[in-house]
Amino acid sequence: MANVVVVGAQWGDEGKGKIVDWLSERADVIARFQGGHNAGHTLVIDGNVYKLSLLPSGIVRGGKLSVIGNGVVLDPWHLVTEIEKLRGQGVDISPENLMIAENTSLILPLHGELDRAREGAVGVAKIGTTGRGIGPAYEDKVGRRAIRVADLADEATVELRVDRLLAHHDALRRGLGLEPIDRAALIAVLKEIAPSVLPYAQPVWKVLTDARRAGKRILFEGAQGALLDVDFGTYPFVTSSNTLAGQAATGVGLGPTAIDFVLGIVKAYTTRVGEGPFAAELNDEDGQRLGERGHEFGTVTGRKRRCGWFDAVLVRQTCATSGVSGIALTKLDVLDGFKTLKICVAYELDGKRIDFLPTAADQQARCKPIYEELDGWSESTEGARSWADLPAAAIKYVRRVEELIQCPVAMLSTSPERDDTILVTDPFAD
Ligand code: GDP
Repeated sequence: MANVVVVGAQWGDEGKGKIVDWLSERADVIARFQGGHNAGHTLVIDGNVYKLSLLPSGIVRGGKLSVIGNGVVLDPWHLVTEIEKLRGQGVDISPENLMIAENTSLILPLHGELDRAREGAVGVAKIGTTGRGIGPAYEDKVGRRAIRVADLADEATVELRVDRLLAHHDALRRGLGLEPIDRAALIAVLKEIAPSVLPYAQPVWKVLTDARRAGKRILFEGAQGALLDVDFGTYPFVTSSNTLAGQAATGVGLGPTAIDFVLGIVKAYTTRVGEGPFAAELNDEDGQRLGERGHEFGTVTGRKRRCGWFDAVLVRQTCATSGVSGIALTKLDVLDGFKTLKICVAYELDGKRIDFLPTAADQQARCKPIYEELDGWSESTEGARSWADLPAAAIKYVRRVEELIQCPVAMLSTSPERDDTILVTDPFAD
């Protein structure tokens, strides 16, 4: 039985929402394996709009099991709010269809405060975090002082964990000019929230192992993108978790052999939010046009995304580091009407041609794009549902992308509508 991992293969915002929704209809279990409540999917099903940032996309569909894996950091107050909001829209959420790994680390109010205090500190370059405490929560997880879901069941354990946590945080807060944490108040809010979270707590690794044995199809839903991976992204302008497909295994407690297909979501051009290197960035009319046609504005912040030509160097690299089996190429329609299109095929670094993104930040910043020019097309590809609906120049563009990234197109998306999709290879096919 096929299990599929969906990951962003650029800097996020590749259009994962639509593809995950398309695939989740075909899956039995949908599992998140990294990130926090910063994912920001909007799902439109039968005219109803659902906004999800923590819960897996499967939650809005009946008859599916949604799983939050241990690779996620969980804000329990946000969890309760998101569940209540969805219930208000008529979505049924219970321990029957939502499970949270017992070994998931919690995001506490002190993490968000720390995030914001650091980003506000003068003289320190901003990373551009969402201020939701996700980074600091991962720090505490790796620092072995996190409070985990299972800890909530025992008051004495909570107190022990809080003491260890505060020994670290109060020292940090003093340096940032923040008041020390009120120990009693923190213990009290944890005690208060525990009964809302614990019913969902499960040994998720075991649940998923059983699901596999029973022949269920699992969809692993990634957040953000490969170039934001804490190890392989454009460090330090990255997120605090591994966003590559390999994380799907450790982020829920299954081995890599549980993964049959890795679908990389790739936008037909490039965008990035916030700071950091971006060789193929366009600060001209073409960039403006991509941004406007592609509605490249942050869903939460409204912040304009930086836009540029398709960078095949980056995607070739992320397809390799995530072991991508096939890509879903999205937003091809945004390229309609350009006379010529460019694809970045290599970089020039200090007078030499290179075919990968170097690791050192200063080298990344000095990489100049080497472009190949292709003919554009004047016809509309919007809503195309078969290759026959595409102009020859668009097919040529897609074929060239495949060649350059050394990975086939499995799906092609030509509008925000779920059915405006050309299926080449079904990721769930055995
Ligand atoms: P994610 O962060 O990767 O999940 O990206 P989103 O789900 O936020 O997708 C970004 C936006 O692109 C959404 O508004 C989608 O509706 C839209 N979108 C997705 N696929 C396509 C496509 O093929 N064409 C166009 N024009 N828009 C698309």
